[in-house]
Amino acid sequence: MGIDEIKARVREAGGPELLERLERLDAERVRPPMEAPSVRAPGRGTRPDFDVVLAGGGLSLLYAPVLAGLGLKVGVFERSRAAVAHREWNISGPELAPLTVSGLFRPEEVGSLIVARYEDGVCRWHGGGEYPVRGVLDHAVDAGRLLRDIRQRAEQRGVTFHDGHALVGVGEGPQAVRLLFERPGGRRAEVTARVVLDARGISSPHATADLLCPTVGGVLSGLKEGTAPDELNPQRGDILVTTEGVEEGRQHIWEGFPGRPGEATVYLFYYAQARRIREHALLRLYGRFFERLGRYKRGEPRLLRPTFGYIPGWSRLVPPPRAPGRRVVLVGDAAARHSPLTYCGFGAMMRSFLPGSRAIAAALAYDHAPPESIVHDTPLHSVTGALALFMALPSHAPERRDDVNQLLDTAFAALHELGNDTYAALLKDQMPGTDFVRFLQHIARKRPQVYRDALTLAGFGPLALARWLGGLSRVLIPLPASP
Ligand SMILES: Cc1cc2nc3c(=O)[nH]c(=O)nc-3n(C[C@H](O)[C@H](O)[C@H](O)COP(=O)(O)OP(=O)(O)OC[C@H]3O[C@@H](n4cnc5c(N)ncnc54)[C@H](O)[C@@H]3O)c2cc1C
Repeated sequence: MGIDEIKARVREAGGPELLERLERLDAERVRPPMEAPSVRAPGRGTRPDFDVVLAGGGLSLLYAPVLAGLGLKVGVFERSRAAVAHREWNISGPELAPLTVSGLFRPEEVGSLIVARYEDGVCRWHGGGEYPVRGVLDHAVDAGRLLRDIRQRAEQRGVTFHDGHALVGVGEGPQAVRLLFERPGGRRAEVTARVVLDARGISSPHATADLLCPTVGGVLSGLKEGTAPDELNPQRGDILVTTEGVEEGRQHIWEGFPGRPGEATVYLFYYAQARRIREHALLRLYGRFFERLGRYKRGEPRLLRPTFGYIPGWSRLVPPPRAPGRRVVLVGDAAARHSPLTYCGFGAMMRSFLPGSRAIAAALAYDHAPPESIVHDTPLHSVTGALALFMALPSHAPERRDDVNQLLDTAFAALHELGNDTYAALLKDQMPGTDFVRFLQHIARKRPQVYRDALTLAGFGPLALARWLGGLSRVLIPLPASP
């Protein structure tokens, strides 16, 4: 399918603004955004316009009403329109608790955000078995309404919104930072703040995570309902499903979950090294999505709402994404401290926005710079990062096209045998280190050559191997996790 035809199909389903967002994301992967070099730093004694500026109005918007509720003056600056989602999210129910604990939503309001709830989820690797699991990613959330509601609560608490402001540069002084914004028509604007939360997601110039999952798909109608693997089962989510081996150097993976009656969200994605992403990567993946959807699910699908993006992952084998100064803090996808293997950026945000906001407020109460990192992380990520890198580097040799499926089938068979709690904990990025070691041992018993295969597949050098072993030792002898 040609690029123009793919664009036409995305435009037809999502409109020109959505296509523009997609093309911008694709263009940024080829020419990553850079910070403007010289922004005048505010001097001592400057009275900042804001306590906190949130640059980016996606899911990290959650920080805004909480910070305002803690008495801070907050401004949200978004290059497009804040609180507009081109995502659909699923999560397990208990992970939504911070929405109510924070006082932002009442329990019944959270209930009304859930568009579908299903009994279980399944992982299935081409040529292998089927591994059901309960209590994982089994609630589909109305992403658009969630963001709109967060914006409304933020406005009620006095947060100001500045749509059409693209942050292009930051100058940091001893007590405040100056932010430079580009506005439509080439105009510019400047504001000052005591702290900036860089919530620009993958578009931040500091979002240097080494792994990326290009992801495309959206809300579909017309899929044939039933219980066969290639039908839409309203009581089951497909967490990870493959329908073939490695093609074009990538292991493509499907995810699908029920939504409103007659609708489902379906994604196609692959793991990749950020530096290997090529021109039009999302658009080309959409081409494959349209052509191969029938292999995954039967029916007469109609794309009602396209959703897409690059989901970052930091392997922990290279230096982390870092903010450019002490008063700039990376949050959400820009920080990429969530699991590099299972991603779950939404789940990770649920764990971070409340303690993170409190940490910022506590620092500002004493006029200190905020902590360098306020987002949730765990030592286990240093180990799972290598597995994600392995997924990003499958062998191109035709005779090894089924290697990834076979390895994953072994791993998921082992997980399934360890019981639902252990299986669910890994997928929700909540597995304790001791269980992870048990999981690794169980895989090795089932397939003794597994680690040699994985390491040769991923082509690890001695430095990466040493870092990985260092990570494993931190899992075995845990240190206190960050907030
Ligand atoms: C298709 C897709 C499906 C997903 N599904 C799930 C899921 O089911 N479960 C789950 O746990 N996670 C999921 N995720 C991950 C989750 O969506 C992200 O982790 C989350 O959105 C990250 O929030 P964020 O605020 O960091 O970034 P984003 O939500 O990406 O928001 C970034 C915002 O910054 C703005 N921006 C960019 N540059 C600038 C600039 N220079 N100035 C001002 N604003 C700027 C952008 O326009 C955007 O609005 C999914 C991701 C994708 C792409």
